[in-house]
Amino acid sequence: MKKYVLPVVMLAVFETVAVTLWLTKDNIFYLFNFSYIGCSIALGIFLYIRQYAHARRIVQLLVGLYMLVYLGLICGENMQIEGFWYYLFTGVFEAATIHYAVAKIFGPLLFGRGWCGYACWTAMVLDFLPYKVPQMPRKKIGWIRYVTFAASLVFVGALFLAHVGNIEKIMFWAFIIGNAAYYTAGIVLAYSFKDNRAFCKYICPVTVFMKPMSYFAVIRVKCDEEKCVSCGRCRSVCPMDVDVTDASRKRENGTECILCMECVKNCPKGAL
Ligand code: SF4
Ligand code: SF4
Ligand code: SF4
Repeated sequence: MKKYVLPVVMLAVFETVAVTLWLTKDNIFYLFNFSYIGCSIALGIFLYIRQYAHARRIVQLLVGLYMLVYLGLICGENMQIEGFWYYLFTGVFEAATIHYAVAKIFGPLLFGRGWCGYACWTAMVLDFLPYKVPQMPRKKIGWIRYVTFAASLVFVGALFLAHVGNIEKIMFWAFIIGNAAYYTAGIVLAYSFKDNRAFCKYICPVTVFMKPMSYFAVIRVKCDEEKCVSCGRCRSVCPMDVDVTDASRKRENGTECILCMECVKNCPKGAL
């Protein structure tokens, strides 16, 4: 039963968040929301342990569609970075602020970029494209993420400074237009760079939060250097160009790991 500890721990973490927020905010939505996400993630890890090939994609679709369609389109919550700034500026700790705190700011201290591998609704679509492993060397244009990050902050800040009315409605449309722009940019970049995850590597503003926090992640893929025969298979199947053979936190592209486990599945020596 030891191998099922991780899904149980993940479920316990999410249930703790669910119950805490339900009771402190007196809103049963939080119990439903975080229980649903925790169950989806625990199910995915369980299926992975049972060696089901599409475990990760199932979680990605369960969580991604829930957040995009139910929370975003039906409930009208802007769960993108603009929504985070919006709630932060209004001083309301709910919706996007809670989502960001759990999934993208403090959560990565525990589960790194797990959000990017198992829950993101942008990557949920990009992962259907044909370039699961990058076909070109990585470009040195990661600085673009800081531009998009600043642009999102300036956009929402300007709405507040200009005292624009009905910001809630603008946020809803920003969510629709923002997602359309992300999907378009993501698909164009994937085909241009022959890399499904090019958008994640160069454009996504959320990585400005996630990369430094995931440097300290508790859950990470480690390499047993005694078992490794330096065959290079792990590197060749990694969608994020991580040098996972280096066990240290300073490994090349270490904060890019999305915990997809492709390297672990493909290592012929069980070194990961
Ligand atoms: S880097 Fe951004 S777009 Fe890519 S999976 Fe992570 S949050 Fe989603
Ligand atoms: S696939 Fe395994 S054995 Fe090969 S380089 Fe990677 S860790 Fe080492
Ligand atoms: S293949 Fe391994 S190192 Fe690369 S992103 Fe997936 S889990 Fe991380």
